[in-house]
Amino acid sequence: MAGIKLSVVAPCYNEEAVLTDFHRRMSAACLDAVGDAHEIVLVDDGSSDRTWAMIAELAERDAHVVGVRLFRNHGHQLAVTAGLSVAKGARVLLIDADLQDPPELLPDMMSIMDGGADVVYGQRASRSGETAFKLMTASIFYRLLDKVSAVPIPRDTGDFRLMNRTVVDILCGMPEQHRFIRGMVSWIGGKQVALPYAREARFAGTTKYPLRKMIAFATDAMTSFSTVPLRLAVWLGMLSAVFAFLILAYAVAQWVLGNVVPGWASSLVAISFFSGVQMIVMGVFGEYLGRVVQEVKRRPLFTIAEIRQTALVQPFAVREADSLAAGGAGSLVDRGVEASA
Ligand code: UDP
Ligand code: MG
Repeated sequence: MAGIKLSVVAPCYNEEAVLTDFHRRMSAACLDAVGDAHEIVLVDDGSSDRTWAMIAELAERDAHVVGVRLFRNHGHQLAVTAGLSVAKGARVLLIDADLQDPPELLPDMMSIMDGGADVVYGQRASRSGETAFKLMTASIFYRLLDKVSAVPIPRDTGDFRLMNRTVVDILCGMPEQHRFIRGMVSWIGGKQVALPYAREARFAGTTKYPLRKMIAFATDAMTSFSTVPLRLAVWLGMLSAVFAFLILAYAVAQWVLGNVVPGWASSLVAISFFSGVQMIVMGVFGEYLGRVVQEVKRRPLFTIAEIRQTALVQPFAVREADSLAAGGAGSLVDRGVEASA
């Protein structure tokens, strides 16, 4: 299928209960938005239920479906990455397969992109069907991340977003291992527009994000987008140096006054002084380590949005070529002769 206008990428992990409905609603939305020129990339992230069998069947019945099976479970973010590497469309929609992100928003996203956006991301105006615990932890997490992250990462967003080809290519060209995709897309920049929506409850099946995976995900996000935790040691070091100085003054004063057991002042001074020094040295390590972390991510140094160049008009091009052939090259030869004479 040449000239695919839109690719949909949906990661699926044990989603047998929702796949049929997802395919039906997503296909309708795609037809509505771009007609036939679309593909739906369904990535089976090492499911242990009938997910792959169902994807294979959908791919057989519907030429728009591209089934991708990973060898084992790699997790949501890597399943998405795999899907992106396969997607060929001029625009790519990332969406969860569990119908928490309504496929029906696609036409709205497309028209915002027609207006010049590079990325249109869904922003949850409300979330139903989530536990109070998930809502609270998510809220704390996004606020904290916003504070420490070097690039602003919009709150209350998932990976539900429409991206243009330029952004997708840059994203696929980012080789980092720990991938926090919504942050990476923010990092790329360009014109990113929010589309508020009501996040529905999971259509069927259960969440694939138990607490353990949520913590791993949050850790990836923090460490990929902030070196603030590493810098903590510097501040702690400064603080403990000040503290050591105060203790030192106090201990010396007590020693002068003769209020001390022999050895007390010297031990206290030595301990507080050296722990302050240790903290500062650790902070210095942290600074270097932070730079190493940035380097090993090997992100592109810059992201070019577009290049414009007006082709030279014909008469000028011809004239320039002529003058090179006649005067330009000739004078070089002349000079060569002169030099050897
Ligand atoms: N998912 C995946 N691999 C995983 C976990 C989840 O591909 O290891 C998919 C899952 O099938 C769904 C999406 O990622 O399409 C989001 O997962 P889920 O709905 O369980 O997360 P929640 O919405 O509860 O945060
Ligand atoms: Mg979900």
